[in-house]
Amino acid sequence: MKRIKRAARIGVLLLVLFALSHTSFSGLLFPWSPVRPGYARETFSGGTVIYTKRGGMPPAYRRVGDLMAEVSRANGLRFREDVTVVVTDDWGLFNRGTLLGWKATPLPVLGAALQTGTVIYVSPLALEPGRDMAGVLRHELTHALMFQQMPLRQTFALVRLDWFEEGLAVRAGNPRDYLDDHAWSLHARHPGYRFGPWGDGELRTVPEELRGSFRLSEYRVFIEFLVGRYGRDRFFAYRDDVLRDPPAHEAAFQRHFGAPFARVVAEFEQAVREGTWPRA
Ligand SMILES: [Zn+2]
Repeated sequence: MKRIKRAARIGVLLLVLFALSHTSFSGLLFPWSPVRPGYARETFSGGTVIYTKRGGMPPAYRRVGDLMAEVSRANGLRFREDVTVVVTDDWGLFNRGTLLGWKATPLPVLGAALQTGTVIYVSPLALEPGRDMAGVLRHELTHALMFQQMPLRQTFALVRLDWFEEGLAVRAGNPRDYLDDHAWSLHARHPGYRFGPWGDGELRTVPEELRGSFRLSEYRVFIEFLVGRYGRDRFFAYRDDVLRDPPAHEAAFQRHFGAPFARVVAEFEQAVREGTWPRA
């Protein structure tokens, strides 16, 4: 065992050295790096915040422990590990640190949570005047909280379940960063409406600059439909089963709600078309 541990430790050390010497990896290990020019860090109960010296500590993030408690309460789940929050005004670091830059184009996102559930990045977009930084952090903390309930290998299946993952995060985190019920309904309420994961038809009626916002609100509205219909406790029990085995989410749905997922989605679509959901 000892030899294995030692080999593992040397492996990690080599990986760190490799990462520190390769700029494309340097972002990924930023939270653990001993040297971070231009950045300062402060540790609070439950979380550490790394922020730029020129920007300073965002006042809302001194309450990172309280924000974690709020997110924990809203979701009825406990954080199992501390969280490090990196607040950066540098898109380069954001894209490298979150691995988002490895995809074709950087997205105009407010933040990102690593699938380890222990690191959150808050993007330069969230630093713009008028942004609700506490809400952005609550959103990412919700992702982190879900990731902390499962082994890392399971998180890949969870993130593919976009409506579920993002719906939970928007609902507990920052619903006001996206369309409210009324504005969402104005765009969704038409005869061709279909729930997002099953077709982009409805997006044609939504102005291009609102589509990202429309989609995230849609996921929240659908989750609120489920909570409204089945109650919070049953929804949480279903959610816990999805977290245990994300690819089997439809079986969990049938088990907890006694109806096929596709049928409830169709009922949701009809309620949206008729304007009975979201409730005015
Ligand atoms: Zn998100």
